[in-house]
Amino acid sequence: MLKCVIIGAGPAGMNAALYLKRAGIEPIIIEKDVPGGEMLKTNKIENYLGYESIDGGELALKMKKQIKDMGVSIIRDEVLDVSLNDMFEIKGKNDCYNADYVIVATGRKPKELGVRGEKKLIGKGISYCATCDGAFYRDKEVAIIGGGDSALTEALYLSDLCSKVYVIVRKNLRASEVLQNRVKARENIVILKNVEVSEFINDEFLLGVLLNDGKVLDISGLFIAIGGVPDVRFLNNLNVETENGYIKTDDKMRTSVRGLYAIGDVRYKDFYQIITAASDGAVAALSIREEA
Ligand code: NDP
Repeated sequence: MLKCVIIGAGPAGMNAALYLKRAGIEPIIIEKDVPGGEMLKTNKIENYLGYESIDGGELALKMKKQIKDMGVSIIRDEVLDVSLNDMFEIKGKNDCYNADYVIVATGRKPKELGVRGEKKLIGKGISYCATCDGAFYRDKEVAIIGGGDSALTEALYLSDLCSKVYVIVRKNLRASEVLQNRVKARENIVILKNVEVSEFINDEFLLGVLLNDGKVLDISGLFIAIGGVPDVRFLNNLNVETENGYIKTDDKMRTSVRGLYAIGDVRYKDFYQIITAASDGAVAALSIREEA
């Protein structure tokens, strides 16, 4: 039986496993963390057809259960290197794996702001995930940086917990109209446009931020939601073609390396949604079946 290793258990990777299993190709998922990817950081998903509204963690669990029930193995390991000889050799922290095909579904990690002191304040006022850390700031004033769907989704979540939420946008909002309208309807959300954070004010913990228009916001928590960066260092040996750090594919999800596919947020594309990640997974699996 042909074997396919899928690296990453987000919606893209899990959907690829479902389609591969049904096509008679053995999928093994390697995931360094808990299955679910970015969904785990989203408290409410309202644009995944079939669920009017569902918690991200719950959707992740449902996907995981469905593929586990089909007999798909999810191995906890971190992939450090992938090389190609007769077969792919995948070197993990704990073990080594061989495969006829590899699907990269590792998503991306949050982008850092790059303001001095950021790393030191992580967990001491700075966070990249409102769903994970919002509860620490109950009834306090917080800010979120970013004007995309992530920032506004997190602002809505925080506005239920915190007394006031500033949204700091460097130019203009780019989030969907639905989210923009919901945010505008919340009395405790203040949107500050054309402004950036130039300094953190802190002792051991964050006390506030200085903006580049000279204003100071006294806040206890700062959430950074300015997009993500894909991490594809483990593919260095394969010289796979990328664009802005994202893996380039054709419309069958094939990369520049024969037998290597890329799906979901790690892929260079226009739209980064759960439904498009899942769709990439289906396309990759069906392409592999066609090629095998
Ligand atoms: P986006 O890339 O869409 O938005 C990033 C935001 O951060 C922009 O406002 C950008 O500003 C700003 N930004 C980037 N760098 C900096 C910086 N150095 N300083 C200040 N601001 C900065 O990222 P998201 O994470 O919001 O979304 C990623 C993808 O995921 C999108 O396709 C989005 O649609 C999707 N998504 C969908 C959701 C949903 O449908 N429920 C929920 C969450 C995400 P500028 O515009 O000036 O570049």
